[in-house]
Amino acid sequence: MSTTITRPTSTQRDLPLEQLRPLLRGAVITPCDPSYDEMRAVYNAMIDKRPAAIVTCRDTADVVACVRFAAEHDVPLAIRGGGHNAGGLGVADDALVVDLREMRSTTVDPAARTVRVDGGCVWADVDHATVAFGMATPSGFIASTGVGGLTLGGGIGYLTRRFGLTVDNLLSADVVLADGSLVVADESHHSDLFWALQGGGGNFGVVTSFTFRTHPIGEAGTIVGGPVLYDIADLPAVMGWYRELLPSLPEELSGWFGALTIPPAPPFPEDLWGRKACGIIWCYTGPHDRADEVLAPVREFGNPLLVGLHAMPFTTLQSAFDGLYPAGLQWYWRADFFDEITDGAIEVHRQHAAMLPTGHSTMHLYPIGGAASRVEESATAFAYRGGGWAGVIVGVDPDPANAEVISEWAKDYWQDLHPHSAGGAYVNFLMDDEGGSRVRAAYRGNYERLAQVKAAYDPTNLFHVNQNIPPG
Ligand SMILES: Cc1cc2nc3c(=O)[nH]c(=O)nc-3n(C[C@H](O)[C@H](O)[C@H](O)COP(=O)(O)OP(=O)(O)OC[C@H]3O[C@@H](n4cnc5c(N)ncnc54)[C@H](O)[C@@H]3O)c2cc1C
Repeated sequence: MSTTITRPTSTQRDLPLEQLRPLLRGAVITPCDPSYDEMRAVYNAMIDKRPAAIVTCRDTADVVACVRFAAEHDVPLAIRGGGHNAGGLGVADDALVVDLREMRSTTVDPAARTVRVDGGCVWADVDHATVAFGMATPSGFIASTGVGGLTLGGGIGYLTRRFGLTVDNLLSADVVLADGSLVVADESHHSDLFWALQGGGGNFGVVTSFTFRTHPIGEAGTIVGGPVLYDIADLPAVMGWYRELLPSLPEELSGWFGALTIPPAPPFPEDLWGRKACGIIWCYTGPHDRADEVLAPVREFGNPLLVGLHAMPFTTLQSAFDGLYPAGLQWYWRADFFDEITDGAIEVHRQHAAMLPTGHSTMHLYPIGGAASRVEESATAFAYRGGGWAGVIVGVDPDPANAEVISEWAKDYWQDLHPHSAGGAYVNFLMDDEGGSRVRAAYRGNYERLAQVKAAYDPTNLFHVNQNIPPG
């Protein structure tokens, strides 16, 4: 994005930022600053929001000052963690942005098997810190995603089947509330707030620090994983086999299903570059002397184009897609949960996945069975514990001229697939234009309780730049 100096909006001119600046260690960036355009950009280049000011918070005191200032001056408040949200919910027009990017320290306690993580960390920061001790906290499938947004929405990743969602491993959170006070929420303090933070998104306050449980994985943090890819024409057979096989596998092995175009770059063999494919990205975190036995059914099935299973540090698998999907691409996605993958759903995938509109566009099914499905649906705000999958249809391309093409493909695919779904979507996979009924559907039986917690902790809906749950 260019760094041209732009004119202040009326909102920005009216804000008494001179009252805020002396209270901060971080910088206040306004439309007059040369870095404004760079700082307002988020991961999805389709998002073009113009906030009134961005505060690069250095510590909790900075966050408190911003929250109090926004409440006092009635300014919309946006919280930016990793900036990965596809709907662009880390930034908003005319808002004061609490930018947490400079709050990124981590502290591991290897004996207690915990990690304390600042609110602006991305998962690469956490993996780096914990895998050094042979441990990991369940997170997602891409290391550049923010800890803040991913955790507060639930957190689905390679370790979900074995150790549960990210929120199932959250031990406590330091939260700046709408009145500027700071509380520690855990099972025994502000337990209603803690319950709501476990999936309810950024509705309840700014989390300045998370403490997570960590788990030993693989051998000293080295796992066995990678892709096994098949021709796209094999999709019905591969998907049908995968839906039967996965629940029968030990929970040390997980794998997400994808439809994709094989990237035209190493390590993929040149004769496969640009070929449409489907397959599973596997991750085995058990003892290595059992790896061959556990992975045997995976190696033996069908006629794969490529079997890329290797021992590697968990950090390598976690960051395997970061290069392919750098910040600054156009993104539009649509999503739903699936309790099962029906034959009808497979037929929809067969038709639409064959028409991936661009090389980056893809469709993923992420398993949420195993340990995640043994938690009661009302035990945390995350409501879909039926042991199925979180699906997401992802239109991506570097060229803004293709924004409509990728969006229409994702919407058409979703339209046909939605009748085969469990009804609602993972809140972190909603776009910002899907409406309140989709947010309700994401929480189903937990929605009313979330609205009550919202009323108790944020009665004026100060925190509304999110998948909003208005106070009940
Ligand atoms: C390429 C890509 C891969 C992804 N992979 C996965 C995956 O494998 N598993 C998965 O579960 N999800 C995944 N997601 C979805 C991801 O969880 C959401 O996009 C999430 O919102 C990103 O969090 P963030 O902090 O980076 O986002 P931001 O855009 O910074 O924020 C998103 C929302 O969270 C709020 N928020 C962020 N940090 C805080 C905080 N500290 N306190 C209070 N509120 C906060 C913001 O206000 C905003 O409403 C992926 C997204 C992308 C783009």
